[in-house]
Amino acid sequence: MSRVYNFSAGPAVLPEEVLLEAQEEMMDYRGCGMSVMEMSHRSKMFDDIIQEAEADFRDLVGISDDYSVLFLQGGGSLQFAAVPMNLMKNRVADYIITGQWAKKAWQEAALFGKANKLASSEDKTFSYIPDCSDLPVSPEADYVYICENNTIYGTKYWKLPNTKGKLLVSDVSSCFLSEPLDVTKYGVVYGGVQKNIGPAGMVIAIVRKDLITDDVLPGTPTMMKYKTQADNGSMYNTPNCYCIYICGKVFKWLKKMGGLSVMKERNEKKAKLLYDYLDASKLFRGTVVKEDRSLMNVPFVTGDKDLDAKFVKEATAAGLENLKGHRTVGGMRASIYNAMPYEGVEALVAFMKKFEEENL
Ligand SMILES: *Cc1c(COP(=O)(O)O)cnc(C)c1O
Repeated sequence: MSRVYNFSAGPAVLPEEVLLEAQEEMMDYRGCGMSVMEMSHRSKMFDDIIQEAEADFRDLVGISDDYSVLFLQGGGSLQFAAVPMNLMKNRVADYIITGQWAKKAWQEAALFGKANKLASSEDKTFSYIPDCSDLPVSPEADYVYICENNTIYGTKYWKLPNTKGKLLVSDVSSCFLSEPLDVTKYGVVYGGVQKNIGPAGMVIAIVRKDLITDDVLPGTPTMMKYKTQADNGSMYNTPNCYCIYICGKVFKWLKKMGGLSVMKERNEKKAKLLYDYLDASKLFRGTVVKEDRSLMNVPFVTGDKDLDAKFVKEATAAGLENLKGHRTVGGMRASIYNAMPYEGVEALVAFMKKFEEENL
């Protein structure tokens, strides 16, 4: 067996321990004679899996009974519609545009009401987070929306915006469980799990219970009402059973690793290794304003497209995969999520140093 260092932005690297456990349980899950993929979602076996996953997730993040935890399908992208359908009572919301995912969410919300662009960093190719300490929040806004870690551009909000009392809604897809999360700061906080938690095909939404009502926009599909999902324990229909099972294992792995504060320290250490090298390099440079740098997604360039392509090709041959930047920005991007070991970043930096020597 040979495993590469996988720097994919998502779907992305998973802990090897979790994959091995899943492999072991594939044919016969705990003596029931079938795999988790084959069992009824109404079975006692699966009920234990989903209950335990939710309990471990709540414990890991520290989520009180004031919030519901929902395991939903349709990806982060369906939440772009679910958020306005469930929350846009006045049909007004303010969006801070820090990248493509925030922009897509804003465009989707405009289908349902007045979606204001409260601030944006598009003027400098989303390479920074705007100052959000005193924005002109709309008095009638139902919520203020952010994308907290910008997967494509590699920026992160290190301070949440001042929403002037309005609900904060946040997409944390690419920084989910990479650091402690104070859910009490949010009305809704959600993330697709395929970036930093599990396989593709599921979103975890943490929704404040008082926001879960029948008072949704007319025409909201039953499946997209948070209330339907909350009332049915995320099993109104068949959920993504296998994904829930793998995520449950990842929650246990994270607890075993020491929890989210420990993960943050580990992630800081990994990111520092790469950023320090980028800051010292004469060939490569990071593309993001230093104070807004993400710990998870690190974009960088040489400034020469052909050299970038050569780098990606040679890195791949050396077992460092998926380093090509997003198709809309070019260059390179290393996603160094929770499951990327420190040794993986060491290998990347060593390879970059060698490439620099050979190509400068
Ligand atoms: C990947 C990503 C999405 C989209 O997720 P899908 O599951 O493909 O819909 C949304 N937001 C952020 C921040 C992402 O990184």
